Amino acid sequence: MDAKELVHKAQNVMVCSHINPDGDTLGSMLGMYHVLTAAGKYVQRACHNTTPPQFTFLPGHEGVGPDLPDRDWDLIICHDASDIQRFGSVYEQHRDLFERVPSICIDHHVTNSGWATVNLIDTSASATAEMVYYFARELGYPISKDAGTCMLTGIFTDSGSFQFTSVTARTLRAAADLVEMGAPLPDIAYETWRKKTFASARIWGAALEGLHLSPDGRYCWSAVTQDMLRQHAATFNELEGAVSHMSGIAGPSIVALFKEEGPDEVDVSFRSMDDTDCTVVAVKFGGGGHKKAAGCTVHAPLAEAERQILAEVAKLVGSREPVPA
Ligand code: 5GP
Ligand code: MN
Repeated sequence: MDAKELVHKAQNVMVCSHINPDGDTLGSMLGMYHVLTAAGKYVQRACHNTTPPQFTFLPGHEGVGPDLPDRDWDLIICHDASDIQRFGSVYEQHRDLFERVPSICIDHHVTNSGWATVNLIDTSASATAEMVYYFARELGYPISKDAGTCMLTGIFTDSGSFQFTSVTARTLRAAADLVEMGAPLPDIAYETWRKKTFASARIWGAALEGLHLSPDGRYCWSAVTQDMLRQHAATFNELEGAVSHMSGIAGPSIVALFKEEGPDEVDVSFRSMDDTDCTVVAVKFGGGGHKKAAGCTVHAPLAEAERQILAEVAKLVGSREPVPA
């Protein structure tokens, strides 16, 4: 059965977004939620986390979370996740479901492993939400203003506010259609891009101040520790967007941002400023992403994670070994 048939036949659908959800995975999942609900299906919004505060403007966000009712699911639709581990507890607690129930994966990551029953992968799409929009049209289901708001949020956030090289005429056509359906672009831009808490502005400042440049100028990096978060009463959620801002630094090929999640856990975000492929380093540490934006988690203390990652970054950009951080 192809993806369309699976959706048309399904009555009880679980839609999923990945752990530490961003605008694309949430916008895609909630867009699909609205479309399928309006088509008369029962739809559950599954995510390891509840909706982060900056996305609570999204219609339908309130039902997002890890608790699943016992139900006879006939389809799982996963959004923006290149491998199954990206669902965190939703997968860990319900492995049997993922084995038993047919799944559709809608994704635009080059590192997608093709883990689902049916994989809709388009690495040329600026966002998974762009794919969700065209898929919803193919399904022949109406797209409400609420659905459109969610989808446009996914496109807007994952395309770097329509600035990235991933933006195509097809992206802009989807966005134009969604605006025509009532999706409020200025509100989405304010909510996801300009609006900041005070703590967020402060932790961005700390991350920018902590930037280091390699001696030969080929790469740069910064680290945000638990101490820094405490000092500014901020969370990592409030650091969202800072690394993309850093990718505007002219000169170096790549920037790495280290986030000390715990004594032995460091999340790393990579952005490349030129043709450098970030996934080369991310994949070596079990992560993934796109050529120009990737991430991974290193299970080591911050100093050790920096040492290991920067050694690989240096190799990637043809630089000499980094000075110890
Ligand atoms: P960010 O730096 O914004 O967290 O992530 C950048 C890109 O890399 C996103 O497309 C995200 O999906 C991907 N990414 C980040 N962390 C991981 C990870 O641990 N595993 C995988 N597979 N992809 C990741
Ligand atoms: Mn995405």
